[in-house]
Amino acid sequence: MDISNYKGVLVFVEQRRGEIQNVSLELLGKGRKIADELGVSLIAAIPGYKINNSSNLLVAYGADKVVIMDHEDLETYTTEPYTQVMTEIIEREKPEVVLFGATSIGRDLAPRVSARLGTGLTADCTSLDISEDRLLMMTRPAFGGNIMATIVCPDHRPQMSTVRPGVMTKMERDPSRTGDVVQMPVSLEKNPMCVEVLKFEQVMEAKQDIQDAKILVSGGRGIGSKENFEVLYDLSDTIGGMVSASRAAVDSGWLDPSHQVGQTGKTVRPDLYFACGISGAIQHVAGMEEAELIIAINKDKGSKIFEVADLGVVGDVHKILPLVTEEIKKINA
Ligand code: FAD
Repeated sequence: MDISNYKGVLVFVEQRRGEIQNVSLELLGKGRKIADELGVSLIAAIPGYKINNSSNLLVAYGADKVVIMDHEDLETYTTEPYTQVMTEIIEREKPEVVLFGATSIGRDLAPRVSARLGTGLTADCTSLDISEDRLLMMTRPAFGGNIMATIVCPDHRPQMSTVRPGVMTKMERDPSRTGDVVQMPVSLEKNPMCVEVLKFEQVMEAKQDIQDAKILVSGGRGIGSKENFEVLYDLSDTIGGMVSASRAAVDSGWLDPSHQVGQTGKTVRPDLYFACGISGAIQHVAGMEEAELIIAINKDKGSKIFEVADLGVVGDVHKILPLVTEEIKKINA
């Protein structure tokens, strides 16, 4: 493979019911930085149906070129048609770097595309950098999160990776940016393994996502029981936040898995993160260390959570949290 034929950065833009997913804007932010560092352009590739009106948004968030792949079979994600169009756009554009969100869609799609292209894929990256010899350095936790491994793909192109939502930051929306918008003609090969979407039914009520919360009050095993989480809900209601949890608390059935913070949960970046009765295991910290301000309450002063906390309180969470809530209520009154 002559890798010198490959230039540019391409981001797979994920839409659901026509709505661009936040992770794709975050990847455009990171893709913009990588493209600037390499001195190349950034392409946003968006498969879907009747999605023409999203191109301005993608340019405003950093794309130099938007490639729209519009076809009614691309309206709802299914593996085969998306794999076909993403493989085709990559073969046409020959980017050196391709980024996907590590969502359920990206995790299904990226490995198939990489296999068809005969290149590698690093999943669940937490940071992406460019080396002196222009290689993409893809860093991700390995061995249960005990080490961070930096992986390169020196001999094949493109260099591909998936990145979890919330890990990268999107750039500030700039409506004055300009870019090219092109349509790629789509002709899909039907094959007997194709899945047919008969109808789409939204089974879950749209609920608030901890990744969107500005304030998180997070509880761990130290909270002791589901009922004891009431003190966390009291505080979060008072300050307009949401309650989240460590894996130990989720595994105990105290909170829904969609509220888990960490390596196997969600990566969050709130303005304020309360870590209550959480020890600060590396797999938890990986999901919350980017919070603007971290306040930890733990009865063990040697607890690792204090190493990442901006403010630490040593004591019993059941005594301290109600006092904090009471004081805030007084201020708000
Ligand atoms: P513990 O480690 O048991 O800590 C409880 C803390 O509460 C202690 O520090 C204790 O001093 C304190 N405490 C007890 N009582 C009180 C009290 N009354 N007042 C104040 N403090 C008190 N974990 C995650 O959170 N998220 C993940 O996504 C995740 N992914 C993982 C992936 C892998 C592959 C592996 C191997 C592990 C993962 N874990 C994850 C688990 C992680 O290693 C820890 O086991 C887990 O984070 C511990 O949760 P905890 O801090 O709530 O519990």
